[in-house]
Formats: sequence, C-alpha cells, structure tokens
Amino acid sequence: MNLAGKTALVTGSTSGIGLGIACRLAMAGANLVINGFGDVEQALGAVRRTGGQVRHHPADMSDPEEIAALVAFVESEFGALDILINNAGIQHVAPVDEFPVERWDSIIAINLSSTFHTTRLALPGMRKRGWGRIINIASVHGLVGSAGKAAYVAAKHGVVGLTKVIALETAREAITCNAICPGWVLTPLVQQQIDDRAQADGDRLRARHDLLAEKQPSLEFVTPEQLGELTLYLCSDAAAQVRGVAWNIDGGWIAQ
Ligand code: NAD
Repeated sequence: MNLAGKTALVTGSTSGIGLGIACRLAMAGANLVINGFGDVEQALGAVRRTGGQVRHHPADMSDPEEIAALVAFVESEFGALDILINNAGIQHVAPVDEFPVERWDSIIAINLSSTFHTTRLALPGMRKRGWGRIINIASVHGLVGSAGKAAYVAAKHGVVGLTKVIALETAREAITCNAICPGWVLTPLVQQQIDDRAQADGDRLRARHDLLAEKQPSLEFVTPEQLGELTLYLCSDAAAQVRGVAWNIDGGWIAQ
C-alpha cells in the first residue's frame, strides 16, 4: 500500500492508538498532521523516524473553532486532507447518577461531536479531489455497553451511527467511511483504569489480568500496530466497497 502524495490527519495522536496509526500511515508514505497534548516532540520524532513529513496542530477537539483551524491548517500545509482518522477520545468511569455533568459534556464533545465537525469540514475537499477515507476509532463500546461508562458508551454508539450515515451519503463516491471498534488496548487511557483497580486491591498484575478476563477472551491486549494495519487496509483500493462497517478487533469481546 503506497500512500505517497496523500495527506492524513489523525486526531489525538500524541500517544496510544492514534500515534500507532500515524506511524503506520507515515510508513506507507503519507504526509501526516498529528494532534493532541502531552509530549508533542516525542510523538513528532516517532512519526518522523517512520517516514515522511509530519506537522503537529494543538487544537482542542472539544472546541469547534479550534477544529476548523486544524482542518484549515492541514489543507494549507499540505494542500489536501485525504485521510481523516477520528481518534481523539477520553474516558471517565462512574455510575450514571454520580456522573459529573462536565465530564459527560467533555466526553460527548471530544469522542463524538469532534467527528461530526472534522467530517463536515473535510468532506468538501475530498469531494473536490474525488477521493477520501474517513476512519472513526470507535470501540467495542460502540456496539455493547459496560456499567460505569455512560458517556463513553453513548458517544461511541453515536460514532458508529454517524459512520453509517456518512457512508450512505458518500456511497456513490470514491470516499468511504468506516469505524474500527477495538477491545482493550494497553494505552495510557487503559493504564489509568488498571491503576484505579490496583489501588482498590493493591496488586497491579492481578488488576491487569482481571481487566482482560472480564471482557476479552484472548486475555491479550490488541496493539496499536494491529490497529495501524487495519487502518491501512481500510485506506486501500481493496477496501473501496467496505462502507459503513463497525469492525471489531477485540480478542473475542463481542463474540460472547
Ligand atoms: P490515549 O489516552 O493514549 O490517547 C488519547 C489521545 O487523545 C492523546 O493524544 C491525547 O493528547 C488526545 N486528546 C485527549 N483529549 C484531547 C482533546 N481535547 N483535544 C485533542 N486531543 C486530545 O488513548 P487511546 O487509548 O490511544 O485512545 C484513542 C482512541 O481509541 C479513543 O477514541 C478511545 O476511546 C479509543 N479506544 C481505546 C481503547 C483502549 O483500550 N485503549 C479501546 C477502544 C477504543
């Protein structure tokens, strides 16, 4: 798969899954714009080592105006936005009647509404150039629920629904929209949940095992590298008629 000449934007890609996907697309030759907080230099270095040109934009994905600035930045830096990976996401775990209202609002804004905003802003350019790929990093929680994750599950189900609508609206064009639904991937977002469990019973290894054993029959984490390969496939010509799927890659989680 050769993505030379294509430009990809991966939101929330300074760590975890987004960074893994950005590195894989860069390795295939794409120009990259990464986004997110934290150690930006380290993330830029990781992408640079794998391939082509890369820039960072610090847009807060909860803010529609900053998202508009991000999409404009991609188009002005590289002249196009061909591959849009909606990946930015956060988590908060609490029962619904104790769920902090501001955390609900942030999760809906970052995990769901940002995907609407990037897509509505990127589509006109994709249409003008006659090609595009939109890949939404949803979750198994876009397909099934888990107690304590009201906002996250609602947002990810929303992402899966939005994916289907965008796929239908682009069905007669060389633009596809699909969702990827990972199970547990060992990233900072999940490490936090392991740490919270370990705090309760004091044993990190057991917390890690129990987290997997509850949901993921393989008892192994999905890796950012595996998600990068699936993303690359969805960008390929072979996937031109894969439209509107919610593709779980989850160690058997939702086969149960
Ligand atoms: P992570 O915490 O490692 O990375 C999240 C990224 O998003 C970081 O780059 C962070 O800086 C960025 N980010 C956070 N808030 C932002 C904001 N307001 N604006 C811009 N960037 C922001 O998390 P991850 O596990 O790599 O998760 C990435 C995506 O994958 C999320 O959408 C998550 O829901 C999804 N996902 C993760 C798992 C998992 O097990 N880790 C499973 C299924 C789905």
